[in-house]
Amino acid sequence: MGKVFRAQALVTSNKNHDVFFDAFLAVDKNKIVDVGPWKKRPRAFPVTDVSYGMITPGLFNLHTHLPMTLFRGIVEDLALQTWLFDYILPLEKKWVSPEFVRIGTELALCEAIRNGVTFTADMYYFEAEIARAVDRMGTRGLMGAAVMDLVGPDFKNVEQALNNVRKLHKEFKNHERIIPGIAPHSQYLCTMETLGECAALSKELDIPVTIHLAESKRELTEMLSKNEMTPAMYLEKSGLLKCKQVLLAHSVWLTDEDMPLVAKPNLSVVLNPQCNAKLASGIAPVHKYIKNGVRFALGTDGAASNNNTDIFAEMNFISKIHHLTEGDLTGLPGPMVFDSATRKSAEAVGLGDKLGSLEPGKEADFIIIDLKSPHLTPLTNPYAHLIYSVTGADVESVYVAGKCLMKNRKILVADESKILERANRLWKKIQKSL
Ligand SMILES: [Zn+2]
Repeated sequence: MGKVFRAQALVTSNKNHDVFFDAFLAVDKNKIVDVGPWKKRPRAFPVTDVSYGMITPGLFNLHTHLPMTLFRGIVEDLALQTWLFDYILPLEKKWVSPEFVRIGTELALCEAIRNGVTFTADMYYFEAEIARAVDRMGTRGLMGAAVMDLVGPDFKNVEQALNNVRKLHKEFKNHERIIPGIAPHSQYLCTMETLGECAALSKELDIPVTIHLAESKRELTEMLSKNEMTPAMYLEKSGLLKCKQVLLAHSVWLTDEDMPLVAKPNLSVVLNPQCNAKLASGIAPVHKYIKNGVRFALGTDGAASNNNTDIFAEMNFISKIHHLTEGDLTGLPGPMVFDSATRKSAEAVGLGDKLGSLEPGKEADFIIIDLKSPHLTPLTNPYAHLIYSVTGADVESVYVAGKCLMKNRKILVADESKILERANRLWKKIQKSL
């Protein structure tokens, strides 16, 4: 038997940007049956009254490193290269283990669910362990196993890293909520040969790719002086841009010449505006992406470089930064920003027909935002509220494939207090070693 939810408003995030006031969402098992104004509801279904709330699709965070919640706040106020090479990589070498990623991921997923994030594209080590945590906690994800030319916590060389991808693929290839993927770190930590091998494996296994691209200006200038090409051209030459789906995280320093290379249906730039501001990496040229028809989605990056994983905060920030840099209040309207965290993200991971909007036949992945707060009263313009007023803390309930993961702000799929306890215990050990 299905269920009908009655809400104060419902944002479909469909192509027409339909929004309904005094709305219903009808769900049967894992699927959406229908949405619309309350008077048109199916009468046979029992009613769940959430008329204090606004229903929207679950959000996508298309670039993060889930277990890095355990490194949040440890290394601050340093340039990206120093931050990464002198601190984060050595810390990871010492601490990252299956136990570390399990604890860090469970912590990250509690945070994700609380923020209304139902789909995460991750990139890390021991990715199968991370995928198992995603499976246990009922969310969805594209899980990218890391590949690079350095020694990683779960591989000594590229061959072993690629073998990890094969194992991940074998375990999760038929999973309903998890897509196994390959995650070459970046063009500066992977040779052309390694990127080519990643492209070949992506094609062989028919899996998506997620990679960091042109995050800092230094990456662009070093690549230009060494190879006389931009980082995007380097990826193109390696064959990586021809893979099934490719998420190009950051994409801050792409040039005009790069635009035709990335304006392709299988490619998406994943913008991380708060992380880029925090690490002084720069401002991604979102106006150029819009002008050139490049699909853009949003990510937070890991908790060590943001330091929160609230996609509402990214939507807020990217809108304001765009207004400031372009002096233009019309180029990046609210519905377009919300699309980037919902329907466009679903398209980016090849699930546009299944996820990303509240439409009949799609999977029942949705969140309920509690409107009983001074900062959300009265509900004048749902999109304006979503971009400029709502924060992750306003998310009250979360559903994935019709299953309730959080109700009235209580996480139902894990013992949150135990997860926090385990994270605190592990942090004490890490702290002693610093
Ligand atoms: Zn990253």
